Amino acid sequence: MYWNERIERISREELTEIQNNRFSKMLRRIYHNVPFYRNKFQELDIYPEDIRGIEDISKLPFTTKQDLRDNYPYGLFATDLSQIVRLHASSGTTGKPIVVGYTREDLNNWAEVCARSIVAAGGSSNSVIQIAYGYGLFTGGLGLHYGAERLGASTIPISSGNTDRQIMLMKDFHTTFLACTPSYALFLADALKDQGISPEELDLKSGIFGAEPWSENMRKEIEKKLNISAHNIYGLSEICGPGVASECSCKNGMHIWEDHFYPEIVDPVSLEPLPYGSLGELVFTSITKEGIPLLRYRTRDLTALHNELCECGRTHVRMERVMGRSDDMIIIRGVNVFPSQIEDVLLQIGELEPHYQLVVTREGTLDCLEVQVEVTDNLFSDKIKNLESLANMIRQRLSSVLQISSKVTLVEPRSIPRSEGKAKRVIDKRNY
Ligand code: ADP
Ligand code: ZN
Repeated sequence: MYWNERIERISREELTEIQNNRFSKMLRRIYHNVPFYRNKFQELDIYPEDIRGIEDISKLPFTTKQDLRDNYPYGLFATDLSQIVRLHASSGTTGKPIVVGYTREDLNNWAEVCARSIVAAGGSSNSVIQIAYGYGLFTGGLGLHYGAERLGASTIPISSGNTDRQIMLMKDFHTTFLACTPSYALFLADALKDQGISPEELDLKSGIFGAEPWSENMRKEIEKKLNISAHNIYGLSEICGPGVASECSCKNGMHIWEDHFYPEIVDPVSLEPLPYGSLGELVFTSITKEGIPLLRYRTRDLTALHNELCECGRTHVRMERVMGRSDDMIIIRGVNVFPSQIEDVLLQIGELEPHYQLVVTREGTLDCLEVQVEVTDNLFSDKIKNLESLANMIRQRLSSVLQISSKVTLVEPRSIPRSEGKAKRVIDKRNY
């Protein structure tokens, strides 16, 4: 099933033509309306007319998160504030948030890509969609909300948190489709179990989970515990929010809606473009954005793109699961470690719960990584000796994958703090 079959199955030639058209309009828009870009172009002695098409994009400069911060709040907007009908902001752990603005047309396009994403994940106008992403400045809730309404689904704007209420509505309202972060989906699953409700008693069929990295093993857990089909959805506020890319029923990567977002993969160090299939930093150009169109925005997310045709019939390229943000990477004794690598190892071990936290400390001059992970109820009440040998086994597997040693602490079920939004996986206690 498709939401917009003509566009979702469009031929590569036609898609490139649309991209070229939209890209050249966008270049003119940012050159004339955004002094930041005009200055950058002039420094490089480039005029929008010099760019023949999207294949010339690598001649153009990148945009970074720092550029957004430096131009806080409205400096990169390409329209007058009177045309902006919505503002969102991303959390921004330090200092000021990143602010993004949408024109009416931007909201229209955003709803379109979210509707496509929901349909790709098995939703339809008959779905009852429970949106348990936060509503507010965070883009997750409202983004999917308008997508679900566009689709004609019965939309429940419950927002995040209040797990008992989530469960009550899920039962009483016969929710068929769930949207939230993957860590919250697991949290809900555990809460259901605690209340003695089996997933078969619910009407849930599928769900769309994103806003944070998760692994294939985590998908299996969610699918098993909630008895649904779980799909990955990707997005970032700077480009629009959720719905930049989303998985179809083939679950072999997320289709990037390329008629709106032009993707590239570059080497994070040299910034040279990389071919399909190579792992690198994902870069987006928002070719239809009016409020805040960004040129070659460096997402910091590491992934690879694939252009082989997907069995679902959609022609838009697919991105792999995000393996981590380059700024989430922890460097331990000089070795790069991504939380997702650790998650993969942990979830292959049956006795563990998919709840973990990484604590990094420094003892003297040496970095220490402690992996805290919850064990299942049965095991925790088991003999200490069994726990020890399990911890040893995990330590060995981690060291062969990460090439560094770590400390493994098995903790009681439900002892690691849960998040209703994005999970906090890394606690870095080192003083730099
Ligand atoms: P913040 O920067 O405050 O977290 P955003 O909501 O804009 O605000 O976060 C976007 C980021 O979330 C992306 O750049 C990416 O790192 C992460 N993200 C979003 N969806 C996914 C996903 N499906 N898999 C992995 N990471 C994701
Ligand atoms: Zn597909």
